[in-house]
Amino acid sequence: MAEKQRQPEVNIGLVGHVDHGKTTLVQALSGSWTDQHSEEMKRGISIRLGYADTTFRRCPGLPEPECYTIEETCPDGEESEVVRTVSFVDAPGHETLMATMLSGASIMDGAVLVVSATEEVPQPQTEEHLMALDIIGIENVVIAQNKVDLVDRDRIERNYEQIKEFVSGTVAEDAPIVPISAQQEVNIDYLIGAIEEEIPTPERDPDADPRMHVARSFDINRPGTTWDELTGGVIGGSLVSGHLEVGDDLEVRPGREVEEGGQSSWEPIRTDVRSIQAGGEAVDRAVPGGLLGIGTGLDPSLTKGDALAGQIAGIPGTLPPTWESFTMDIDLLERVVGAEAGDSIDPISTGEPLMMTIGTATTVGAVTSARDGECEVKLKRPVCAPVDATIAINRRVGTRWRLIGIGTLTE
Ligand code: GDP
Ligand code: MG
Repeated sequence: MAEKQRQPEVNIGLVGHVDHGKTTLVQALSGSWTDQHSEEMKRGISIRLGYADTTFRRCPGLPEPECYTIEETCPDGEESEVVRTVSFVDAPGHETLMATMLSGASIMDGAVLVVSATEEVPQPQTEEHLMALDIIGIENVVIAQNKVDLVDRDRIERNYEQIKEFVSGTVAEDAPIVPISAQQEVNIDYLIGAIEEEIPTPERDPDADPRMHVARSFDINRPGTTWDELTGGVIGGSLVSGHLEVGDDLEVRPGREVEEGGQSSWEPIRTDVRSIQAGGEAVDRAVPGGLLGIGTGLDPSLTKGDALAGQIAGIPGTLPPTWESFTMDIDLLERVVGAEAGDSIDPISTGEPLMMTIGTATTVGAVTSARDGECEVKLKRPVCAPVDATIAINRRVGTRWRLIGIGTLTE
């Protein structure tokens, strides 16, 4: 008998180089395919962050880790027991999408780094993503050494040594390395066992103010819907603290831009929670973990086309400030990671444009003053963020934005 779908309690990122098997692994672990978007299907890469929920189970009659499964029925015909429900965030591997990866990572409680055994280590995004985990401070990492069905034992061992050397001195130094074949579904039980061990559900403060990072926003009405049948705007994202209930008042910041007498400013939006979708069904109450859809009383034109992506939602009066400019302490990387690895990084200079990722918000700003270890930026679009927020700083190098360092919002 299928039991009620549970809300996921932890978010696990899937990171690693393009084509190393992240999406295939999510499919093996959850039975669902994250590349649903037709454009993504065409290009064969996950353009948007894809979420897939899965319930890990165990077979009472089997030893660890062979007991772990996602099937409801064990090989001996017995019913498996629920361990916990987790949500996988399948990050895009394509290098121009680093910012999306970083903004998704802000809601990851742990990560599985997928490394193909068929290639030399590290490939550019393997390095770039590991650096991002380091920056965001994601310490609970499991390494999936994938595609072991394609290479012989010697290559697997050499590749294992390369991985070991590559992660030495990083946040993933002690991460278990599990050889798997995502496509042939080999050692998936071992991988689930390693995830259970290394990526526990974080302890959450039940009394914390709810804070939702908005990643998407929609107008779900069909064209031509009459005004009396319109459904309010929907926001999608993840709760990083607290809980939300149907009926709660909601504030979204920075909100919307209003113009008055030729002057434009940003005003928080007020609404209420009309419905909550979590773990694939309607619930009355949502806690951190997985992707939520919140039905609101907002005019759908405000939420159309991801208009509120990157904003923060919570109880009115409890949200962090909105910044149109701010000062940040900066910590530059020693060198550019990824494709043109090895290039050194010049100091940030006054006047240069930067792209910054803060939570799920990505915003471009111009440096208005740069001093040693500190700079002030004026943003094109304001962000809502607490003092001390971590900022991924990107600089335009050639035709793309490259990660050059991290900032800490000071004032
Ligand atoms: P992503 O870019 O990291 O999401 O990689 P995908 O999951 O899209 O996989 C890239 C290609 O590698 C696809 O053609 C997969 O079928 C293939 N692939 C993924 N995992 C394995 C594996 O374990 N063994 C083999 N033989 N092929 C795999
Ligand atoms: Mg993919």
